[in-house]
Amino acid sequence: MELRQQSLDVLVSEVGPRDGLQSVKRTMCTDDKFAWISALAAAGLREIEVGSFVPPKLLPQLADTAAVVAHARKIPGLHVTALVPNLRGAQAAFAAGIHKITLPISVSEAHSLANVRKTHAQMIDEAKAIVALRNEQYAGVQIEAGMATAFGCTIQGVVPEDDTMRLAVIMAECGVDEVGLSDTCGYANPAQVKRLFSRLQAELGGKAGGAHFHNTRGQGLANVVAALDVGVTTFDASQGGIGGCPYAPGATGNIVTEDLVFLLEAMGLHTGVDLDKLLAARELLAKGLPGEPLYGDVAAAGLPKGFAYAKGGV
Ligand code: ZN
Repeated sequence: MELRQQSLDVLVSEVGPRDGLQSVKRTMCTDDKFAWISALAAAGLREIEVGSFVPPKLLPQLADTAAVVAHARKIPGLHVTALVPNLRGAQAAFAAGIHKITLPISVSEAHSLANVRKTHAQMIDEAKAIVALRNEQYAGVQIEAGMATAFGCTIQGVVPEDDTMRLAVIMAECGVDEVGLSDTCGYANPAQVKRLFSRLQAELGGKAGGAHFHNTRGQGLANVVAALDVGVTTFDASQGGIGGCPYAPGATGNIVTEDLVFLLEAMGLHTGVDLDKLLAARELLAKGLPGEPLYGDVAAAGLPKGFAYAKGGV
């Protein structure tokens, strides 16, 4: 098990500063990002996706990602990750000192063309080139393939499970370290989640990665429980449920980090995250994005009387 997950039952990977901030119109200023990310780490989150190495013209909200990586790297114990759609982005991410990159690989080719303007064949070539660069110059940086639209696509509609598995296997063969499954558009249901993650584990073994769920149709936490049942131990989430995909029409936010941590701790699974501190970080998110709607039921209702963390502590 990797260092960042040691002593934890489940790794909660915060993606709000990337998935969230890319899909809101407002741009959070760099100093506010620094303060928010520091507060998220102080709450006990051990992995944070802090941005995306894409041309600033496409996502001006994330134009300061290199500076944000530099800040996040100074936080002791934090595993700093970023989204990287191509070789040029990977070069910038590696140079910035990233610990891990995630390549978005859309199972739906229509989504791939809309999201990264590349066919499957072109994305496979890109992944091979990125792995080669890492192997030559940046050994130690982790590479994950995030299989986008793995459970269905706003543009294509149904995404056959065999298509997801075939591309996942190709990505593993390209030399990435792990392959996760993303419900980019909020189409997944718990039965499908169990089937696909079981197949992923059977076919990829140790390279089978975590789950990235959106809550577009309210199935997010049900899908988490289904994934837990088949042994998934890493979950992406965004604080306040901000998020979406600019190229997946109708997609809304990720599952809410606060609600996910509550679910896991209440079920007896240790996350290392302090909910009071996490709610304090939420104040910084609200301050950095004034007027932006934030989601989450734990923030609204508070912790239940007598609530106890898994294993007796944070
Ligand atoms: Zn997402």
